[in-house]
Amino acid sequence: MIGQFYFSPNSVSEGTNEDYQLSVLPRSEHNISRKLISEPALKVLYRLNKAGYRACLVGGGVRDLLLGKHPKDFDVATNATPEEVRALFKNSRLIGRRFRLAHIRYGREIIEVATFRQHAPESGKTELTDDGRILRDNTFGDIEDDALRRDFTVNALYYDISDFTVLDYAHGVDDLKKATLRLIGDAGTRYKEDPVRMLRAIRFAAKLNFNIEEQAGEAIYEHGHLLRDIPSARLYDEALKNFHSGHALRAYQLLREFELFQYLFPALDRYLKLEPAEAVLDFLEQALVNTDQRVHDNKPVSPAFIFACLLWPLVHQRAIQLQSEKVSTSPALQAAGIEVFAEQIKTIAVPRRFSQIARNIWTMQPRFCNTRGKQPHRLLNHPNFRAGYDFFCIQSMVGLTTYQLCEWWTDFQQEQEVKPREQVKRKGHRPRRHRKRPRDAQRQRAG
Ligand code: ATP
Ligand code: MG
Repeated sequence: MIGQFYFSPNSVSEGTNEDYQLSVLPRSEHNISRKLISEPALKVLYRLNKAGYRACLVGGGVRDLLLGKHPKDFDVATNATPEEVRALFKNSRLIGRRFRLAHIRYGREIIEVATFRQHAPESGKTELTDDGRILRDNTFGDIEDDALRRDFTVNALYYDISDFTVLDYAHGVDDLKKATLRLIGDAGTRYKEDPVRMLRAIRFAAKLNFNIEEQAGEAIYEHGHLLRDIPSARLYDEALKNFHSGHALRAYQLLREFELFQYLFPALDRYLKLEPAEAVLDFLEQALVNTDQRVHDNKPVSPAFIFACLLWPLVHQRAIQLQSEKVSTSPALQAAGIEVFAEQIKTIAVPRRFSQIARNIWTMQPRFCNTRGKQPHRLLNHPNFRAGYDFFCIQSMVGLTTYQLCEWWTDFQQEQEVKPREQVKRKGHRPRRHRKRPRDAQRQRAG
């Protein structure tokens, strides 16, 4: 049976007077088993609970498990303050100013533990800008308050470790069934408080293949411009989450459809609106398809590569322009790369170590057309060769370079991989024998 309790939230944003209703799903009515939760997350939940605190799994962990998916990470919510969490776990540290929370590290896995908060702009405790943006959100509250200050209904589900129930404060389970992303409270107000929620809407819609509910969708067109006020470092994090989610192509399409792409990649957005050649659009899409494939295959993905791909149309165009002004190929690509990044980092703060690799990838491209003499060997030794080669092959897949050249490089790499053994042979060393020669074998048998 689903237990139901009523309460009037005092914490939902202005613009809603809806009463939310808590539904409690007992263990027998949901599919979340402890076997599906990572060991570190369970350890954190149990230790908090044993110390007398309330401890729940929340957010993507609960949402994805209910959908039968494998969560990216596990977030924990508790009534212990960050300092109390810190005292309980030696392997923890406190992070964030805008939003203070504890990170508990177990090897490579980090469990994020947040204290229940209330959303209380009217109390004056939540620091807001003049236009309603939350600057600091460190007013603690109870679990109901905490649920209703979360962004989407499907993200406000809790798995309580004390009795293994799922607590649904905002009809999140209904929305999971309807595959709908619905903001808790008034969409416009929630976006004004934190414009990044618009990017989160796109990310979840792409990742979960959910619809963005009508009001939440319409308000994006109206409030998208608020992303201009978001620090470029935060936009870098959010952009990467979109492009490294394994659903980059869908996220890119949705960002463009909802007219948010312009706030992340203003120059590229202007360029795309001029309807460039089909092959350029194909290149961008193919790069995103490849990135998604790598994520699904558990292969590493690099921010440098994704930015190299997304900004290539601009760099290429600018380099051609410079070449027409008699600058030679390599310096033209260098200069174009610097110019394009100088513009890009105004919105997205790409760290220098990645922009440097992206520029290396670009300047390497003409060198893939040279297959004679010592040049190919030199290129093969470039520290970013592999990324440059992958990039070159994507170009060849959409007809921006010839496919034969990409194949030539594929063969060349294979040849070079076997080469060291040949060199050893020439120096008079015998390659190690793995199998007995038939004659030896016969002799043994005879003896
Ligand atoms: P993912 O699978 O990408 O980790 P997630 O839903 O867990 O998705 P997180 O960024 O890990 O997303 O955040 C954890 C939870 O914290 C969210 O599910 C949501 O409840 C809450 N949250 C995060 N960011 C915001 C925000 N900007 N506004 C309101 N709630 C947020
Ligand atoms: Mg998460």
